[in-house]
Amino acid sequence: MSAPVGPTRLLDTTGGPDVVGLDAHLQRWGPLPSAGSKALLDAVGRSGLRGHGGAWFPVGTKWRAVAGSGRSRPVVVANGAEGEPASGKDRYLLHHSPHLVLDGATTAARAVGADHVVVHLTAEAAAGVRAALDERARRGIDGCSFEIVVAPDRFLAGQESAAVATVNGKSPGIPTFVGIRTVREHGVAGRPTLVQNVETLAHAALIARFGPDWFRSVGTAESPGTALLTVTGRWDAPRIVEVPLGTTLGQALGIDAGTARGIQGVLLGGYGGGWLPTATALAMPFAEETARAHGTSVGAGVVVLLPTGVCPLAEVARVVRYMEGEGAGQCGPCVNGLDVLATSLEHLAYRPRSLRGGVAALPTLCGLVEGRGACHHPDGVARFVRTAVDVFADHAGLHLSRGPCQTTRPFLAVPTTPVARAR
Ligand code: SF4
Repeated sequence: MSAPVGPTRLLDTTGGPDVVGLDAHLQRWGPLPSAGSKALLDAVGRSGLRGHGGAWFPVGTKWRAVAGSGRSRPVVVANGAEGEPASGKDRYLLHHSPHLVLDGATTAARAVGADHVVVHLTAEAAAGVRAALDERARRGIDGCSFEIVVAPDRFLAGQESAAVATVNGKSPGIPTFVGIRTVREHGVAGRPTLVQNVETLAHAALIARFGPDWFRSVGTAESPGTALLTVTGRWDAPRIVEVPLGTTLGQALGIDAGTARGIQGVLLGGYGGGWLPTATALAMPFAEETARAHGTSVGAGVVVLLPTGVCPLAEVARVVRYMEGEGAGQCGPCVNGLDVLATSLEHLAYRPRSLRGGVAALPTLCGLVEGRGACHHPDGVARFVRTAVDVFADHAGLHLSRGPCQTTRPFLAVPTTPVARAR
């Protein structure tokens, strides 16, 4: 086996089959080294790997917290719920390279001392992962038990406490409490629980094989390695692309000045992320620290290049109405605030003269929902709206002065997205 040297790591199958079975997987990557907990915690910590499910939390810190948290054996949840409609990279990875994800889950289990792994995934990914687990069971290559739990088709299904609620059979796909400390100490069946995104686990499987220095050989100091992106708007259908972090999107996606003219704004981080002007998004090194400096987040790697000819305000209104419906209805901002925000955006998109307070009312409404939910769902929606108001300010001015767009061709995936393919 050899460490990948090009810009692709997780998608590197050196010309292998579409679905990489166990034999092809072992031929490409070799068996997992038999490192123990201390060595794995050290390697993942030194690698600087961060969570690719959206939060970008340092993985080494999280694994150490679970490893040292408790009175009973921990559980690992390999989280491939991927409720974000504009994302397809986790489903693609589970379909294409299930054994890399399962190796990562085994690595995490060894590191934190877990004896049980729950693979939490979408219904469409279940059959492939079940077949992969059967292959592994026949060879006896995992030292822990595995279970598959299908996530509900909800935006928040992958949120950490919502995932644990689903696995525990309570309020599927609904966040149950604030923060991550509680899940780490008292999660699945009341046991300490590590919930880790499946792409993150696949990176961990390669770190276990090739070490932290190899992992850090691409990327930035704060965001090392590569990331899988789900890119919408560059090709006829969404595609999965792997990019070294720190590369500009313009370079990674091969977008030149001519192509950029057809893009009226770029969404990073999905429907809880934020919009950027096209030139800014394409020139910015693609990494979490840079995205945050620009008021957004890399999130789960969603990149939407919104083409000209689509009404951005109608798109934002459609997404916010969808997000309003996906709130769990437990807290004030989701019960009242998101509906008012969605209605105001629908006024701006379709009946602009009936928008009370003009465009300036929208950031004010965002302020009324931010920081007031038991989870960050309303905060994400507020960021999505605030950045849209900035980036599409000229377009909003046209709606108010001349009336709404006559054509409102839907573009953003609400509520589902076509199955993505690799570039
Ligand atoms: S803020 Fe909304 S989504 Fe989050 S827990 Fe409260 S009701 Fe549920």
